[in-house]
Amino acid sequence: MGRSSKDKRDIYYSAFKLLQLEQRFQLFQGVRRAVDLCAAPGSWSQVLSRAPPGPPAPIVAVDLQAMAPLPGVLQIQGDITKASTAQQIQRHFEGHPADLVVCDGAPDVTGLHDLDEYIQAQLLLAALNITTHVLRKGGTFVAKVNFQSKDVTLLYSQLRLFFPDVTCAKPRSSRNSSIGQGPSRGPLPFLGTPPGLALSPLPGPSRAIAPFVACGDLSGFDPDRTYPLTLCGCSKIITGVPEPPWVSQTSPGCAETLRRVQNPRRCAGTLAGCARNLWV
Ligand code: SAM
Repeated sequence: MGRSSKDKRDIYYSAFKLLQLEQRFQLFQGVRRAVDLCAAPGSWSQVLSRAPPGPPAPIVAVDLQAMAPLPGVLQIQGDITKASTAQQIQRHFEGHPADLVVCDGAPDVTGLHDLDEYIQAQLLLAALNITTHVLRKGGTFVAKVNFQSKDVTLLYSQLRLFFPDVTCAKPRSSRNSSIGQGPSRGPLPFLGTPPGLALSPLPGPSRAIAPFVACGDLSGFDPDRTYPLTLCGCSKIITGVPEPPWVSQTSPGCAETLRRVQNPRRCAGTLAGCARNLWV
């Protein structure tokens, strides 16, 4: 995560963002293979790995930084701008393409605004680039976008070259960024070409206007609030936090509820994929 992170709770916001997008778009429906680009420290991978009915194929998580091991998540310590990383992902899926690629990438910042904005945009293009190598036709790509960027219109145009349906959504837990999502038209590899795609925005009526969708309703997570640490080891909600759609599919006989009620800040859960590290 970039050094400029304004708030140490960013990692919590990160998980909420993906949960809220799932609530709004049912991103995980029918997903058998998922890739988490720029995944460290791993909250999005944890959310993905816990989506019902659970991962039949491991989720592949890529980051420059090492991550702590996560059940059901295969980790690649690598650079998403490299063709070799795309090949590693393909190898892990034994040549099968992924149904979903998510990217929450953020470069370390220099403090020079224009340069930082440029690098962030290039990282997103790198994510799009690698996605064209690993995502199946009709699959979904979800990426964090900086709304404040001057070139956001250009970005939409670039995304629409690959995805017939591009949507911007701002989850309530997101403070200043957003998500673009849409099914892929098909892989159009461009790894190796100069970053930036050298495209001009389309003029006049051809200019792409992405629909804006505010994600979630007023009962969603609020980034300006601190929430009680109420998720138990199998994701049952004990109190306070709105239910993600998958909490009803919890493991039978979960013993975590009691423990969490007695001592809500310390989840002693041992279930595979327990989300306690996220919340505690
Ligand atoms: N989604 C993550 C989570 O929920 O835990 C948080 C991701 S953090 C905001 C951004 C990550 O992007 C950092 O871990 C950073 O190492 C990674 N990153 C930046 N540039 C990268 C690159 N070229 N290749 C792979 N990862 C990169």
